[in-house]
Amino acid sequence: MNYIQKAKDAFYENKNISIDERLKWIKSIKNWILKNENKIVKSIQEETKKSYSDAYISEIFGVLEHLDVLLHKGKKYLADEKIPTPIVLMGKKSKLYKDPLGVILIISPWNYPFYQAIVPITSALITGNSVVYKPSELTPLKSLLNEIFSVNDLINRGLVQIVHGDGSIGKELIDQKPNKIFFTGSVSTGRKIMEQASKNLIPVELELGGKDAMVVFNNSKIDRAIKGATWGTLTNCGQSCTSTERIFVEEDSYAYFKEQLLLNFKKINQDVDSDGNADIGLITSDTQVSIIADHLKDALEKGAVQLTGHDWDFKSKKIPPILLDKVTPEMKVFNEETFGPIAWVYPFKSTEEAIRLVNDSPYGLTASVWNKDIKFAQDFAHQLEVGGVSINNVMLTEGNHELPFGGVKDSGIGRYKGQLGLYSFCNLKSIIIDGNHGKTDPNWYPYTQEKLSLFKNLTQSFFSGGLTNFIKFAINGLKLEKLSNTLGKKGRS
Ligand code: NAD
Repeated sequence: MNYIQKAKDAFYENKNISIDERLKWIKSIKNWILKNENKIVKSIQEETKKSYSDAYISEIFGVLEHLDVLLHKGKKYLADEKIPTPIVLMGKKSKLYKDPLGVILIISPWNYPFYQAIVPITSALITGNSVVYKPSELTPLKSLLNEIFSVNDLINRGLVQIVHGDGSIGKELIDQKPNKIFFTGSVSTGRKIMEQASKNLIPVELELGGKDAMVVFNNSKIDRAIKGATWGTLTNCGQSCTSTERIFVEEDSYAYFKEQLLLNFKKINQDVDSDGNADIGLITSDTQVSIIADHLKDALEKGAVQLTGHDWDFKSKKIPPILLDKVTPEMKVFNEETFGPIAWVYPFKSTEEAIRLVNDSPYGLTASVWNKDIKFAQDFAHQLEVGGVSINNVMLTEGNHELPFGGVKDSGIGRYKGQLGLYSFCNLKSIIIDGNHGKTDPNWYPYTQEKLSLFKNLTQSFFSGGLTNFIKFAINGLKLEKLSNTLGKKGRS
């Protein structure tokens, strides 16, 4: 079946739907979510084995925040915009349209199956596109997503199609030539998608993996940073692209930090609960369990010391929080994305060393820096090769849905969310309107020696600056306009 063609047909049929109508869809989706929160959490838990609170806080709350940005700001962000026009183009007006691209193919992973569905789908819809959505085969949320996108008949009208299956169906959909691919997932799949998309020059947005660093200076509220580290490493049982996977602590605070983090790890309550009392749930994917086991074995073989979580059998999806000591850069756990509840702390001596440690990674998603001196922390953030930095907090750039989200290096290409992120789903169309109906532009034919000489004078005076030059520019401009109009009427003699 050609899902992309069906979506293209739906796109053309619905092309003239106003932003107000599209906002009504977003409102219906929001209302449906508010009314059905328990049902949503139950479906997420069934497929992912998250704790109730993890599912509720990271998926439902985040989605509602995003929908509110669309509802309150979407119309403004997507309105035609006046753009300044330089004086050399006097008499003309410039505008920017935020038109849709057509069909957006969205391919998602399993770690936040609700959030990773609703946020990109609604971003694509509000900008006027139609959507083909392929969830992870591990977390299809089948009936739930069908129900949500049945509001305002979006599925029946072909504006949203949900296509289930594994990577092979993803590949087929790319061959059907969507207008853009919005992919969230692993680096290795991201590479394959970009390669396949390049054959038809399909633009891609890639939201890929991470190995996010936390940098804690002596001059910070250390106890708060330790609480942040506990949450940042363990939230969603470590299965977040922006999980804290590398903790660098300034030498004098290192021993205390490690000791307290260990105490916190021992207090974590792990369960797939229904009352909200569990901190973390389980690992969702068998493949991920194998990766985590491989990283742990590799670290232990190379001399790391396991401080907690000894009861894990390297097979069960119930992986407890594991804190490692004596980790070195030769270990997989130091460099590769682990995506599980494993943490380690590494000391640093100087600011320069901390910058080098953060940047010495193929990944560049987000990072956090902890320092009471906010000016210093902001300067430090400039030095990091990442897409976002939380200062004295962790994983919080994602918490503001007005901020664009995305990574650099192997962590991906592009930004979504917020005003700038919304434009990832748009054809940013430049418009220029000429009010000078009867005139001949100076750069139009015929070219003559006299015209070129005036053009040169105009160029020199315009770009040299200062009042005298501005007056020369105005005089030259008038002469050039007059000559152009005369030549335009007469033509080349
Ligand atoms: P994955 O790459 O294995 O799969 C992601 C999706 O791609 C799935 O729907 C899968 O069926 C599909 N797919 C697989 N092969 C394909 C192909 N050749 N063509 C088209 N589609 C294909 O990733 P995963 O294991 O589901 O998710 C975990 C990864 O996602 C982690 O690396 C994590 O860091 C990353 N992630 C990134 C972000 C972000 O915003 N940067 C957010 C969440 C997860």
